[in-house]
Amino acid sequence: MNISSKRSLYALVLPAIFIICASLLIWKWDSLIENVKDINEFSALLVILPMVPYILFSILTILGLRTNNIGLILISLSYAVSYFAVNIVDINLSSIPKIVLFILPLNIILFSNLKKRRFNSKTGTAYFFIMIFQIIIIWFFCYIADNPDSRFVFDLNKEFPKVGHKLLLHSKFFFKIFNYDLIFDNIPFISILSLFTALLILTVNLVNNKNIHLAGAAGSLISAFIGISSSSIQPAMMIYFSTAGLILIVTTIEASFSMAYIDELTGLAGRRSLSETMINLGKNYSIAMIDIDHFKKFNDTYGHKTGDQVLKMVAAKLADISGNAKTYRFGGEEFTAIFPGKNAYEAEPYLEEFRMNIESTPFVVRGKGRKGSNSENRGKNSSSNHKTAKVTVSIGVASYSKKIAKPEKVLKAADKVLYKAKHAGRNKVLLQK
Ligand code: GH3
Ligand code: MG
Ligand code: MG
Repeated sequence: MNISSKRSLYALVLPAIFIICASLLIWKWDSLIENVKDINEFSALLVILPMVPYILFSILTILGLRTNNIGLILISLSYAVSYFAVNIVDINLSSIPKIVLFILPLNIILFSNLKKRRFNSKTGTAYFFIMIFQIIIIWFFCYIADNPDSRFVFDLNKEFPKVGHKLLLHSKFFFKIFNYDLIFDNIPFISILSLFTALLILTVNLVNNKNIHLAGAAGSLISAFIGISSSSIQPAMMIYFSTAGLILIVTTIEASFSMAYIDELTGLAGRRSLSETMINLGKNYSIAMIDIDHFKKFNDTYGHKTGDQVLKMVAAKLADISGNAKTYRFGGEEFTAIFPGKNAYEAEPYLEEFRMNIESTPFVVRGKGRKGSNSENRGKNSSSNHKTAKVTVSIGVASYSKKIAKPEKVLKAADKVLYKAKHAGRNKVLLQK
């Protein structure tokens, strides 16, 4: 499992833990509240606690503004508006929670699929209008459906008899859908359908592009959905919406962390991560430097894009190397593997296995190459449009010793041996003597 898959898994487990903790908190709420004896403290709590979700969503909106992440801003606003709408609900607008349960998952799919776009871009503005439009429509229909005998509906009918009548019919239809097939007494069937559709789409997207934001969107949606469904239990709404906010904050931090520590192209840990590991290495370890052979020629022959595919392929195989190695993209077409607890001799078999694995896997070049394929490390054509090319790597390994005690020096030594491996004809693993 490579590092970005591990992070996505972590980002999925984390929301689950948060939601479980929230449920435990609600379960133990009464006994916790009993500890607050002072009446002033108690009334202060009553004022502050319902504000907590708004504070968290405001922090998220600021984070979204700072990072130009319009998706995050819209998701936070959707939760804030939903929380507000369900909180102010009264007998006149009793359908609102049911409609929010339906519409919220759809909004979250829409907004979580937004690529990062500027806050003030055309798309950004359009999405804001979609949101405001939804709020007006929902409020309008809910009001009419829940209050068919109100003065407003009466006046509407009088002023515009045709439109008024149609509106009322539509509103009643609207009302019926959301009160049909209620699960647990208050969740409409179509809302469950909308939640599961959203979760399915988010999961498929997460598997495909390992974007941690998607795990945050899914986790926070589940939490908010449970919150609205249990809005009749006193602290539940506040706690589940706060949990949704916390899940989004944590996954946003995790995503920025990934950006800083993980190489985007290969999904391997990057240089910054390597530097941190090197600070904490003990006394017995070895470091291997790995370099793709004649990569410049490869790029020149097949193009930079195909070159990138090769980098991905080599990185994927390196991530699977045995021997408990930690693997990194050092930069360009160079990679690093650290074997904690193993000297260069002990690490060699694993590196040799990796080298042979790369050598024996023909790389399929799709489409036409830019130039002919007559270079020394190019394979034969397998078809007119699909060529296979041979990729090889050279590796230098050095281990910690009293003479070479600093990790930077061990790495330098490995680099020197790598240079020797290149001179000795490439496609070799050489050890520091
Ligand atoms: P050697 O066998 O001696 O290592 O030869 P080489 O051609 O692999 O080494 P050289 O250092 O001359 O060239 C490295 C090439 O790697 C040059 C650069 O264009 C390419 N490269 C570096 N980073 C990337 C990248 O992210 N994508 C692609 N496609 N190419 C890259
Ligand atoms: Mg190089
Ligand atoms: Mg090279």
